[in-house]
Amino acid sequence: MLKVGINGYGTIGKRVADAVAAQPDMDVCGVSKASPDFGADGAVRRGYALYSAREDRLSAFRDAGYDVAGTSEDLIEESDVVVDATPGGIGAENRPRYEAAGTPAIFQGKEADDLVETSFNARANFEAAEGAEYVRVVSCNTTGISRLVAPLEEAYGVEKVRATLVRRGGDPDQTGRGPINDILPDPITVPSHHGPDVNTIFPDLSIDTMGLTVPTTLMHMHSLNIELESEPTSAEVRELLAEESRIFVVEDDLAIDGTGKLRELARDRGRPRGDLWENCVWGESINVQDSELYLFQAIHQESDVIPENVDAIRAMTGLADGDESMQTTDEALGIGL
Ligand code: NAD
Repeated sequence: MLKVGINGYGTIGKRVADAVAAQPDMDVCGVSKASPDFGADGAVRRGYALYSAREDRLSAFRDAGYDVAGTSEDLIEESDVVVDATPGGIGAENRPRYEAAGTPAIFQGKEADDLVETSFNARANFEAAEGAEYVRVVSCNTTGISRLVAPLEEAYGVEKVRATLVRRGGDPDQTGRGPINDILPDPITVPSHHGPDVNTIFPDLSIDTMGLTVPTTLMHMHSLNIELESEPTSAEVRELLAEESRIFVVEDDLAIDGTGKLRELARDRGRPRGDLWENCVWGESINVQDSELYLFQAIHQESDVIPENVDAIRAMTGLADGDESMQTTDEALGIGL
């Protein structure tokens, strides 16, 4: 069994840990945290060995009653691969520590593309990460766009993507984020930085993006207009997307009118933390006019990158090829609504 360490046990790290623990070919050898808060309590209750991110915080963990296995240095030594899910920018500081230990590492969306050998999305470029030591799983929004573009590109060719990203103000636990009563063009400059991030996965794709931030914590919403090179019907596109395991085409009769009901569906289905690992594309919104495709998709920012982290581990270590890895991940997690 491959030993995976999780450095940074927050919104993403705790979900990656549970996803790794559910796989047949890998184990969580420990998780590292900066402070002994409720997240540390959750890790211990799930049976994960707990490490302190810093030497000088060891006493804080011990004073709070935690039996700490060591520092993140020890965790890095112990691990075959580390998933670094620390806040943006800290991954770059951590890379020399992984290099010193000879431990391959996966970084997350906020880190720069040039920190790693390749940015990663399982559906679009699994092969690029095969054998790599340092890989970045792209952001939640870029993951959502990449999963959509990959099958469209293969089936019809993509001339141009135009996307407006309506982004949640913060995650539910980010009490300091906003806005609480406003709609922000974010960034105000157009096009936004999201398009170039998608180009780290599809270097030749023509894409322009605009961003807004709104007062919700539930999900992001993408409004997409994609010029295709051929002219499929709306029904054909709907069928194509429905065949993708990580795209959930929301059927009309479910009467789901927004992100609140989507998350409620996930809770009703017994999903852990009410997570939605799949892109949620409204079937009724899929509309092709003169080779221009329009649709709305909702992206659960806290969870869509989780299966991608599991697949990146397999790509880097050679545990499986892309199709086999995605299938194993999907089965272990129960992906597919
Ligand atoms: P978070 O703040 O929820 O979690 C970060 C965790 O890292 C916290 O538990 C913190 O205690 C810990 N930490 C801080 N400094 C550390 C250190 N030096 N060593 C070890 N642990 C340390 O952050 P998050 O939302 O999980 O984001 C992590 C990364 O994932 C970022 O790059 C972010 O851009 C990316 N990401 C986040 C989301 C999202 O919506 N939350 C979605 C996709 C990608």
